[in-house]
Amino acid sequence: MSETVVVALGGNAILRPNQEASFENQLKNIETSCNFIANIIVNGYKVVITHGNGPQVGNILRQNEEAKKFVPAFPLDVCSAQSQGLIGYMMERSLKNALTRLNYSSQVVTLLTQTEVDSKDKAFENPSKPIGLFYSKEEAEKMRKEKNWIMKEDSNRGYRRVVPSPKPKKIHGIESIKQLLESNITVISTGGGGIPIIQKENGEYAGIEAVIDKDLSALRLCEQIDADVLMILTDVTNVYLSYGTPNQKKLESSYCDEAEKYLMQGHFSDGSMGPKMEAAISFAKKGKKSIICSLEEAVEALEGKKGTRILSS
Ligand code: ADP
Ligand code: MG
Repeated sequence: MSETVVVALGGNAILRPNQEASFENQLKNIETSCNFIANIIVNGYKVVITHGNGPQVGNILRQNEEAKKFVPAFPLDVCSAQSQGLIGYMMERSLKNALTRLNYSSQVVTLLTQTEVDSKDKAFENPSKPIGLFYSKEEAEKMRKEKNWIMKEDSNRGYRRVVPSPKPKKIHGIESIKQLLESNITVISTGGGGIPIIQKENGEYAGIEAVIDKDLSALRLCEQIDADVLMILTDVTNVYLSYGTPNQKKLESSYCDEAEKYLMQGHFSDGSMGPKMEAAISFAKKGKKSIICSLEEAVEALEGKKGTRILSS
């Protein structure tokens, strides 16, 4: 029986910092990333790919804001769906081409995926995630009045809209993902953490303006499809203790209780390595494999030779 791996791709795999967000640049990065992911598939693993969407959804929001005189701006959940489509298309096409070059015939399918969050999640009381454009104080005041947006000053660079970042509760469409995997079809799903939705009191669903952390959604996805491996691919080869200091220490493996202690001690930053380690530890606690590594070393990391592994105690 082949193992099922959920591969969570970081933002760098799509757009590097300081690169212009052109279609060509993003496609080129995705093509490179897909060459590495194709190797995982060719090595016999069943793969579900999930990915970040920060810069892409930010740019779609900007297009909406800049053009609102001509075309009404769309809400954030719709922009999130657009970004899933945009990235999913590039990724599906690139991955199919990479597999073809390796003479491996396998299908790839992208699913537009909704992620349900709890409408009573504490995050809704304290929106914290800055998104979209910077505004002056006066403009910010206007947005506050016109749109009911919550505006906060962001590191002296101006005012930005902040939205809640609730925990993912349930990924929708899981049965379809499972059936596709059983048929040996590679699935791209839950991009950007999934399109955020809530269930209303009458049982119906509605989109909600929020941002969901992609690493925590990857964990939910792993749990719901009963995956064997959570593999978080990012732009560092390993997780480090005292990262960025002269005493930084590479972690090749760590038992989850030990890793949890490091997490409490603040070794992993909030918006970056923190959620990755949180997800990796939770999954390892269930007796499953969690790996954090670079894209380039993905196959070797699956064989236990590279990257950082979080082990169940
Ligand atoms: P992604 O787009 O892959 O989610 P992030 O920027 O969110 O990327 O997270 C990866 C970054 O986390 C690394 O580039 C590194 O700068 C940062 N980081 C913070 N703490 C650590 C740590 N303890 N070990 C390694 N990297 C860390
Ligand atoms: Mg991140």
